[in-house]
Amino acid sequence: MAATVERPFAAILVAAGSGVRLGADVPKAFVSIDGRTMLEHAAERFAACAELVVVAPADRLAEAARLAGCRAVAGGTARRDSVAAGLAAVTAEFVLVHDVARPFVPAAVIDAVLDALVAGADAVVPVVPIHDTVRRIEADGSLAGVVDRASLVAVQTPQGFRRDVLLAAHERGRDLAVTDDAALVEAAGGKVVAVPGADESFKITTPADLARAAAAIPGGMSR
Ligand code: C5P
Repeated sequence: MAATVERPFAAILVAAGSGVRLGADVPKAFVSIDGRTMLEHAAERFAACAELVVVAPADRLAEAARLAGCRAVAGGTARRDSVAAGLAAVTAEFVLVHDVARPFVPAAVIDAVLDALVAGADAVVPVVPIHDTVRRIEADGSLAGVVDRASLVAVQTPQGFRRDVLLAAHERGRDLAVTDDAALVEAAGGKVVAVPGADESFKITTPADLARAAAAIPGGMSR
């Protein structure tokens, strides 16, 4: 991660979700894969950042700080509240916002996001093609038309931002129903740049995702 050494980057690791869909007995970020928590796996990938902060459940701050090896701040009810809490705790010119639920993001993706930020982007998102056929579905469950997947991509994290741009977008977009920070920047008039994401950076949501992650690491899964 050469770029992190040259410019002041902060990374915000959002880990305050409950992970209900995973069905584990601890919040998702504290579930282990191959003997180490998702949080530990994710944090080591951002170790070169000048500032690192983990956003964790309020009752697990000390544990989160120990596992991630950095400061921990309490998250909020929605992901965007957790991002805002992390944002308030960093000062660097550029920030990366990363879902701990994507513990295996490759360095090449992080570097690509940083490079695009240094090149002048307001916001940067890693994207991957969609391989499944995608359809719209009606409220009653009936299928509507197939969507042309050639014109679609799936958005991953880390998403990168100029810190001032993200702060302003959060402020302006309080009432917008969007699920990611880049969409808030776009709604505030900023330009979002795409860089290549990676299959290894898939998001762990369900038990099947966890099994896939464990299988990808020699040694298997624990807890
Ligand atoms: O639930 P989901 O997997 O979409 O959450 C994405 C990321 O956002 C996870 O790393 C989760 O811990 C984090 N999150 C958070 N605070 C919330 C909800 C989700 O930090 N209130």
